[in-house]
Amino acid sequence: MWIKQAAMRAATLCIVSGLFVTSGYARAEYPEKPVTLVVPFVAGGPSDKIARDVAESLRKTLGTTVVVENTAGAGGTIGTARVARANPDGYTLLVHHIGLATAPALYKKLGYKTSDLEFLGLINEAPSTLIGKTGLPPNNLADLRKLIAANGGKLNLANAGVGSASHLCSLLLQSTLKSNMTFVPYKGTAPAMSDIMGGQVDLMCEQATNSTPQIEARKVKAYGVTSAQRSTVPALAGIPTLNEAGLPGFNFTVWHGLYAPRGTPQGYWISSTRPCAQR
Ligand code: ASP
Repeated sequence: MWIKQAAMRAATLCIVSGLFVTSGYARAEYPEKPVTLVVPFVAGGPSDKIARDVAESLRKTLGTTVVVENTAGAGGTIGTARVARANPDGYTLLVHHIGLATAPALYKKLGYKTSDLEFLGLINEAPSTLIGKTGLPPNNLADLRKLIAANGGKLNLANAGVGSASHLCSLLLQSTLKSNMTFVPYKGTAPAMSDIMGGQVDLMCEQATNSTPQIEARKVKAYGVTSAQRSTVPALAGIPTLNEAGLPGFNFTVWHGLYAPRGTPQGYWISSTRPCAQR
């Protein structure tokens, strides 16, 4: 099964680019038209940035136009349903993350089954960061915890909808802290990030892919990295893990994968890689 070979090969890769070759057809026949790469969140967020990297790789490998389509809403489940129901012909692909695995437990009616999708390969895995608006008084997690303990209900925590990575991370944070912060849902973390920078929202658990430039530019405060180990990204290496900063055992990372509708024909999947950037 080419899909399985692809998945096994790609599992060790950071950014995959691929070439579908439909079995029984000449290689030249695919692709005959542009490929649509669906991202289930709005443009400018971490999933979108990662998908645009993958689109660039696919463009080079396939020699065709790859259109990134942002079909956002309901924590990524609307875009996922769109791909699950698409023609399984190699022309509609999905970039999605950890939320694909958790959505069936969080939504009563999804409109698709996870088994309606074929896994093509792992794209990346990266930590999130707990960030806050610059106007929040605490400068470290210990002080932030005091503020949350005293005033938790008044603080709000942005996320990209139920089942999004930022929401899952927020749930873990909320249960670890036993707090009652108010969740504020968006259709993606790009608009949430604008609101954190604008001071309208207090906190967010955001993937390093999106938060690193804002942390570096001091447009947001960074309270900790969510992975068990510190990030190897130079701009984040000085930021403690939440674990180190007083939340023992806290460990949350986000993987993204590439998917096709189930039934996409067998063929060959040729991967090309570039060095693993921790994004
Ligand atoms: N992937 C982000 C999340 O799940 C949302 C986004 O990419 O905008 O929180």
